Amino acid sequence: MSKDNFETSAIRTQIEHTQFLENSSPLYLTSGFVFENAEEMRASFTEEKERNIYSRFTNPNTSEFVDKVCKMEGAEDGFAFATGMAAIFSSLAALLNSGDHIVSARSVFGSTHVLFTNYFPKWNITTSYFNVNEPDTIESLITPKTKILFAESPTNPAVDVLDLELLGKIANKHNLILVVDNCFATPYLQQPIKFGADLVVHSATKLMDGQGRVLGGITVGRKDLIREIYLFSRNTGPSLSPFNAWLLSKSLETLVVRVDKHCENALKVAEFLENHENVNWVKYPFLKSHPQYQVAKKQMKKGGNIVAFEVKGGIEAGRSFLNSIKLCSLSANLGDTKTIVTHPASTTHSKLSEEDRLEVGISDGLVRVSVGLEDVSDVINDLNQALQ
Ligand SMILES: *Cc1c(COP(=O)(O)O)cnc(C)c1O
Repeated sequence: MSKDNFETSAIRTQIEHTQFLENSSPLYLTSGFVFENAEEMRASFTEEKERNIYSRFTNPNTSEFVDKVCKMEGAEDGFAFATGMAAIFSSLAALLNSGDHIVSARSVFGSTHVLFTNYFPKWNITTSYFNVNEPDTIESLITPKTKILFAESPTNPAVDVLDLELLGKIANKHNLILVVDNCFATPYLQQPIKFGADLVVHSATKLMDGQGRVLGGITVGRKDLIREIYLFSRNTGPSLSPFNAWLLSKSLETLVVRVDKHCENALKVAEFLENHENVNWVKYPFLKSHPQYQVAKKQMKKGGNIVAFEVKGGIEAGRSFLNSIKLCSLSANLGDTKTIVTHPASTTHSKLSEEDRLEVGISDGLVRVSVGLEDVSDVINDLNQALQ
């Protein structure tokens, strides 16, 4: 899909006009929809007639959001969820049976890791993990019970990059369903389906909303798999609210211009940090020093908005860096207009042992910066004074 088509899809994918011929889609805050008569109601429930029944199943605003993301990702179909975690949990729960096995990258979003290690085993679903820097070990983990290959790229918070083409080949060879969490890249920078992903999941909370306002999630991909996910979700209730869908669909109209600017600012921040005397190393997919720079160049349009770096002096230096920040926000979110800094070792990942943290690429001095849309010189000045 050319960039022109991509932007046009992001702006022009729209539900039918009402009789008022509005230019911007209205908000359909309604829990249910009415039927003309008993026959229409019967035909709707048997799916002989395709239409909205109840907003736990479908709603015009969620349909617009789903159609749009499908076009942007090159996907056949999709379903929208209340959060990114609802998308991940419901999609996998819909497809997996007791006894099934997942092979996953070890560096995945924290709650995804908790889902795989603490909750799925309750239903006899187990997970084996591979180190993102040792993809040649993936095949040795696959068993006859393996059904899902799960990964995210770039990873959170260490900004490692996985070769999606390689994952696609492995999944195809072993007949696995490849699920890619594409949250950090957005469909603008990377389209995993092109590389063989069967399903793409997103936390729409991040760059899709882009302004730190609402939670949302979405899964798009193969029609037969989405059908299973739809039936599971329509009965279990993790659906996205029409209001959030309406807002997210509007946000996608500006995704390209926002993400372009995020990437431009992030690259400047990364280059600044790379030359700073109090920084050990910097990881950003489009820095030549990134270990997977070539892979990033192959599969991503730009480097994204997340920069990871290691401040000299370990956990204490990381904590004092955070305490010295003046402009940037200390917050758990990312992908906001506002630049956000976090220090995983003393906060989100403080319960892990140092050894377990290092396994997922979190050293004691690691700082994650979600670069926002402020004047980048103000962001750089803030990071600089905090590093002194
Ligand atoms: C935030 C995030 C999630 C979870 O999304 P929520 O909307 O917070 O539930 C999943 N994966 C990644 C990579 C994320 O950054």
